[in-house]
Amino acid sequence: MFPEWTWIVGFFLGATIGSFLNVVIYRLPRKISLANPSKSFCPNCKHPLDMPDLVPLFSWLASKGKCRYCQVKIAPRYFFVEVVTGTLWAGIWWRYFVDGGPNSDWIRGCIYLATAATLVAIIFIDWELYIIPDEINAFLLFLGILFASVTGRWTEFAWGYLVGWGVLWGIAFLGRVAFGKDAMGHGDIKMMRGIGAVIGAGFVLGSIAIAVVAGLVIPLLLLAARSLKGKTATEDGAAETEESLEEYKPEPIKDLVVLGACYLVSLDVVGIFWPELWKKLGYDPESESIEEDDWKPSVTTIPFGPYLAIGAITCMVFPGLVSGLWDSYWKRMTGESESGKEASVHQVEWQPKSPGSEKFANL
Ligand SMILES: [Zn+2]
Repeated sequence: MFPEWTWIVGFFLGATIGSFLNVVIYRLPRKISLANPSKSFCPNCKHPLDMPDLVPLFSWLASKGKCRYCQVKIAPRYFFVEVVTGTLWAGIWWRYFVDGGPNSDWIRGCIYLATAATLVAIIFIDWELYIIPDEINAFLLFLGILFASVTGRWTEFAWGYLVGWGVLWGIAFLGRVAFGKDAMGHGDIKMMRGIGAVIGAGFVLGSIAIAVVAGLVIPLLLLAARSLKGKTATEDGAAETEESLEEYKPEPIKDLVVLGACYLVSLDVVGIFWPELWKKLGYDPESESIEEDDWKPSVTTIPFGPYLAIGAITCMVFPGLVSGLWDSYWKRMTGESESGKEASVHQVEWQPKSPGSEKFANL
């Protein structure tokens, strides 16, 4: 559809979006409005930032990662988010706008660009603060609804939504009942529901499989990197206190069931616009706010959300690779036969062809 060189356009558009995501990542969990103040500011000296400070990638490099006004170091995260978002946008741009393989159309490409950007915000917020704001999960759901409205692929939407919610809530429930542990954060359940609504049930399962592998490999790489760097571990190490381990109480099973049912019908989205809802149901949404939350994660606490998000992003950028691996896994599990019930259901999942998406694919 587009010439090959346009991936560079995708990269810089993505880096610009990444610059905005940095604002979201900082402000949303701290309950600062995204619109007010309209100008970005230095988190340390609060000096408003002007155009020269806001050029994606280049500003951070030119100022050597320091605030121009107070000279305090700006976290490398700002640069990193822009690079990551740019790279993901270049990949999705290539896959859906240049390469134009089977089952790729420009509407799917646009939705995936927005979804990948949303997941970048989730990765960095969840990694730092161990929460996924309801607003972001609602936005994922909105993207799924938008995608289905435009293409008419409501069946894929519904299965993805249900499987995303069901598998994650199921893990949380089993973990709680069988092992007495909070196995899955509520944010993860809401996030996979939204991811499923966008990428469909097959890729939800693919995302979870990738997340499990990434969840084993990435912490090992981080630990290795930390032991090489030595002292930087203290920041996180300080968080591990004896009290935080003693105070650990898993949430009541009743809460998990009631709130799980709320997430199934997306009541959390209603709760964003009408916070009274939670009080009426007997829950305190403020307990999720980061200022009042004195729970500190230990070093061994690993948020699973970032890995699920990485899994979903992998499915969007390399759909052929993921579905190919999954198919060969299924064939092995089902004894090389494709006549099995799962295999046939599964094939339909990977190749969702609604009349709408075919129509747009030819544009
Ligand atoms: Zn400053």
